[in-house]
Amino acid sequence: MPNRRALLGALAAGLLLAQASLAASAQDKLPVVASFSILGDFVREVGGDRVAVTTLVGANGDAHVYSPTPADAKAMAGARLIVVNGLKFEGWMTRLIKSSGAKAAVATATTGISPLKGDDDHDAKKGHAHGHDHDVDPHAWQNAANAKVYVANIRDALAKADPAGKDAYEANATRYLAQLETLDGEIRAAIARIPADRRKAITSHDAFGYFVKAYGIQFIAPQGVSTEAEASAKDVGRIIRQIKAEKIPAVFLENVTNPRLVEQIARESGARIGGRIYSDALSDAAGPAGTYIAMMKHNISQIEKALAAGPA
Ligand SMILES: [Zn+2]
Repeated sequence: MPNRRALLGALAAGLLLAQASLAASAQDKLPVVASFSILGDFVREVGGDRVAVTTLVGANGDAHVYSPTPADAKAMAGARLIVVNGLKFEGWMTRLIKSSGAKAAVATATTGISPLKGDDDHDAKKGHAHGHDHDVDPHAWQNAANAKVYVANIRDALAKADPAGKDAYEANATRYLAQLETLDGEIRAAIARIPADRRKAITSHDAFGYFVKAYGIQFIAPQGVSTEAEASAKDVGRIIRQIKAEKIPAVFLENVTNPRLVEQIARESGARIGGRIYSDALSDAAGPAGTYIAMMKHNISQIEKALAAGPA
């Protein structure tokens, strides 16, 4: 009998210990949800080993047309901080916050960035089929100076959600902000190596407005600032004529959009395909754009290679 009681006691104690250690490991890291892969990378850089990041729209995913899953709702409900891009990028987020019963603070990473206007023209032609308006361009991360604003906002939101980690978040952010500063200079240097009259290219959707404005290169796209609406035949025809008239050297595939449209434009215009660039999502970790900095470096090397070379 005593043996049995001791055994039961030991079992109970073991169970308690197991529960305690589970609770401790869950409390160890701050659960943070990031709406898409680029934000997830920023949160990891600033949060370091204090945070456990769940990214909703993963590698190569298109956040414009995403449908949340039950697992997403569960992650939202358990989060202590939710980080979103804002500027109407994640049109599905408001409903997900409500339906998941999430209680976490929501940090909008673009707070403080002056938004560029979206291309209403693209939308008008589609008659606003989905009831979304894209009067604002959400792709602010495509300017490395804006990425610094994202990171500062994430640093402040993490420190608020987890005051004990404030010093760690500040140190991580300072280190990473310096890397973004270097990146910004590298992008400028790469663009400067492209002859001025060749700084123009085609992409499938209008994701590079902030890049264009910051770095002085022209990108033209048949699709608007969202991928929700398809490009019209009229838009495609106009772009093919523009490529020929302005001798635009290259067209680029994007990781989040179907390559067919750009391939068709290349075929009909004679422009060369300059490779795949990453607009709205990272690649998986093994790919060429597993982090934001790797993504921007990959994009700029593809752009430089395609545009700096001789006539197409
Ligand atoms: Zn986009």
